[in-house]
Amino acid sequence: MNLEEYIRTVDGFPKPGISFKDITTLCKIHAPFKESCDILVNHFKNKGIKKVAAIEARGYVWGGVLAYQLEAGFVLIRKPGKLPAETISETYELEYGTDTIEMHYDAIEKGEKVLLFDDLLATGGTAKAAANLIEKAGGIIEGIAFVIELTGSLHGRDKLKGYKMISLIEIPVEE
Ligand code: AMP
Repeated sequence: MNLEEYIRTVDGFPKPGISFKDITTLCKIHAPFKESCDILVNHFKNKGIKKVAAIEARGYVWGGVLAYQLEAGFVLIRKPGKLPAETISETYELEYGTDTIEMHYDAIEKGEKVLLFDDLLATGGTAKAAANLIEKAGGIIEGIAFVIELTGSLHGRDKLKGYKMISLIEIPVEE
């Protein structure tokens, strides 16, 4: 199955100049959604993963399925101010300004193997910050997974050097 066929591109969303890769057209249909989940589950099974950590909000679409299938727990990484208990946070650079993500301080135990998931890799800033957060908590990153990887001028993969990484769909972008 060619999963890329199920991705819708919306040019100019959320602002002019962005070519938004919409995963809702993939996950709304059972067959490609199941296939995308199955590939990732098969890739990460029997690796001793104790937690799947996913980034809000689209990361949760796959994250919960992966956690259930891998017999792991699920950890929410969120935007600031959304988690109710004490959090640890990580701030990272954007093209203009900075962004912050948070996780509950007790979401991951020291030495636990963690799979980090997000829907899409662009510059890699978000995933790198999430990886830092997990390591700050004492987690060991077993792998980082994406449905879509934007390749070419963004060099997101370079930011995640040293981690095992898998993406299901590679889409080249020009800047
Ligand atoms: P980055 O930190 O640059 O790798 O951006 C990754 C995060 O931003 C992910 O959580 C994506 O959901 C979102 N994102 C960035 N660029 C796009 C895009 N072109 N289409 C859809 N989502 C994007």
